[in-house]
Amino acid sequence: MKTALVIGGGAVGLAIAGEIAPLVDELYLIEKEKRFGEHASSRSSEVIHSGIYYKTESEKAIQCVAGNISLQYFLPRHGVPYKMCGKLVVAQQKYDEKLNNKEIEMLHFLLKRAEENGVPQVRLMDAEEVKKIEPNVRCIAAIYVPTSGVLDSAAYLHTLESIAAAKNTVLVTGTKVVAVEKKHEQFAVTTAVAGEVQEPILVDIIVNAAGVHADKVAKIIRPENEWVIQPIKGEAMYFRSNREELQTSMHIYPAPITYTLPDGSKGHTTGVHTTWKLDGKIAITPLYDTHPKHEEDYEITHSPKDFLEKVVGFFPNLKENDLRLSQAGIQPKVNEGDFILQPDKEYQNVYHCMGIDSPGLTASLAIGKKVRKWLLGKDI
Ligand SMILES: Cc1cc2nc3c(=O)[nH]c(=O)nc-3n(C[C@H](O)[C@H](O)[C@H](O)COP(=O)(O)OP(=O)(O)OC[C@H]3O[C@@H](n4cnc5c(N)ncnc54)[C@H](O)[C@@H]3O)c2cc1C
Repeated sequence: MKTALVIGGGAVGLAIAGEIAPLVDELYLIEKEKRFGEHASSRSSEVIHSGIYYKTESEKAIQCVAGNISLQYFLPRHGVPYKMCGKLVVAQQKYDEKLNNKEIEMLHFLLKRAEENGVPQVRLMDAEEVKKIEPNVRCIAAIYVPTSGVLDSAAYLHTLESIAAAKNTVLVTGTKVVAVEKKHEQFAVTTAVAGEVQEPILVDIIVNAAGVHADKVAKIIRPENEWVIQPIKGEAMYFRSNREELQTSMHIYPAPITYTLPDGSKGHTTGVHTTWKLDGKIAITPLYDTHPKHEEDYEITHSPKDFLEKVVGFFPNLKENDLRLSQAGIQPKVNEGDFILQPDKEYQNVYHCMGIDSPGLTASLAIGKKVRKWLLGKDI
């Protein structure tokens, strides 16, 4: 009789539960909030990412491309609203010597990376072709990415929860994992409900999917675990308008900006972009607050003007007072900049999902399958 526990009920923990429930005799999914998906998973841009940005063969590239394909099968099958609306990455003829960022070069770089990462049908468009499909977008050239989309994340989370429940997962909310003690071949897991400590449960396998708290949960399991998550707040503002000059049919991203990672390799930020929503809203995102007050600080620190400045170059008809609603979410960044998906160094029956920032929603099904594969490789 083998018992497993998934800690954290966001998209990643729920997807993992659905994948591994059939492999064990008993599975618990424990979430500290009253409902599943209250944090990053319900505060994202809901973009189904294609995988064109990430370093080839990184976990992000592999899990994003695989997750994108899995979603295109999963979402229609389960009636989750979505649309493969596509995306443009646009060059606006800017040359910034300091950032060494020639935009057209960057588009060619992304074309090559898309091919290396296995992202299909990405191609260059000239300004005239862009004008025909997105008349309100100003650019000198773009690349078109048809496998980018948008999904209804609330419906997706609800579906993942129903699937996990149908596979007999014991779904527990309002319960925080506060201590883990190794007991021979098992783990005694102590939880707290409204601050009140409960009797420990004994489990054989633990999956840590605690989002921005995954570093703390890793330390609860084994204090020598050294991962440190840097919480980064991503802020968005929205508009919804019937005005013809504010309509777009897909996501519009600027050419990315290059930066150097601590190991000397190059990374890219997507830049502030507009994303299309299923309910007709358009989001402008992200502006970052790199020092949020705590891991669940969702206060907006940027003004409509800050957002407008970033996109007005390629979306010139937007005005400051068009922007009304706002939302913030916390991304759990780790130093490596990549997803860390691996068993604990000491405890072979513990698996960590660390640093699952964007494109974690897109990658969630693929991460679930990866954890399933890990469990299948064990003699349980
Ligand atoms: C602003 C923003 C925009 C984004 N946009 C996109 C996008 O467009 N496309 C995309 O693919 N991805 C996007 N992402 C990334 C994506 O949302 C996340 O990668 C994904 O939701 C992570 O899911 P998760 O389950 O790992 O984390 P979470 O959803 O944060 O879930 C972790 C859960 O663990 C619980 N927990 C923590 N500690 C404990 C404990 N001790 N005991 C019990 N429970 C615990 C938390 O309460 C939480 O519910 C975005 C993220 C942000 C913040």
